[in-house]
Amino acid sequence: MAQDKVKLLVIEDEMSIRELLSASLKYAGFDVSSAPTGYAGLQAVEHHHPDVVLLDVMLPDLDGFEVLRRLRAGGRDVPVLFLTARDAVDDRVTGLRLGGDDYVTKPFSLEEVIERVNAVLRRAGKGTPERSGVVRIADLELNEQEYVVRRAGKAITLSPTEFKLLQCLVHNAGRVLSKAQLLEAVWSYDFNGESGIVETYISYLRRKVDAVEPRLIHTVRGFGYVLRTPAAGE
Ligand code: CA
Repeated sequence: MAQDKVKLLVIEDEMSIRELLSASLKYAGFDVSSAPTGYAGLQAVEHHHPDVVLLDVMLPDLDGFEVLRRLRAGGRDVPVLFLTARDAVDDRVTGLRLGGDDYVTKPFSLEEVIERVNAVLRRAGKGTPERSGVVRIADLELNEQEYVVRRAGKAITLSPTEFKLLQCLVHNAGRVLSKAQLLEAVWSYDFNGESGIVETYISYLRRKVDAVEPRLIHTVRGFGYVLRTPAAGE
């Protein structure tokens, strides 16, 4: 449902960064448009009405600060997330003083950008993905309306049973669930020694969603499973 997606506008002159950022953010479920210059960015704000603008500071025509000044002068209160060069402390201060909402420093990770975008949206009181059926644990994301699972921004295809099992673990994150509880919740079986199916599906899930660090699905020997973020040092 495209109309429910959060709209982002990326204003960045470096083609490689602009394209990488646009592609990855689209993949992460945002509706993304982009512009290569300050003027094009200002026009794009008028056309696309983005929920958040990702704004590079160093642009060839108007710099990012000037773009922000013009947006605010024109009555546009869209949240702005600055993309600044590493250690450009003055840029950050100037950007925030001018009414920017936050910044990320290059080089950035996609995860960091998404986190900042969501934080900016929360502060702006706009609908965040969390409120539209998306549950997050660490970098795992479960969209219960669209039946989409992502880990570190990458979409993962699950069978309906695998999805249901993951959903059950996510909803009970931090709580150990016995095989019997999982069997009943996911397969609607009464427990009569058929725990093999739970083990089998847990192993499918691990292969699909938990093949990267940090591991989220933990075995509690002799009892069952728990999905949780690892404690520090684990
Ligand atoms: Ca630039």
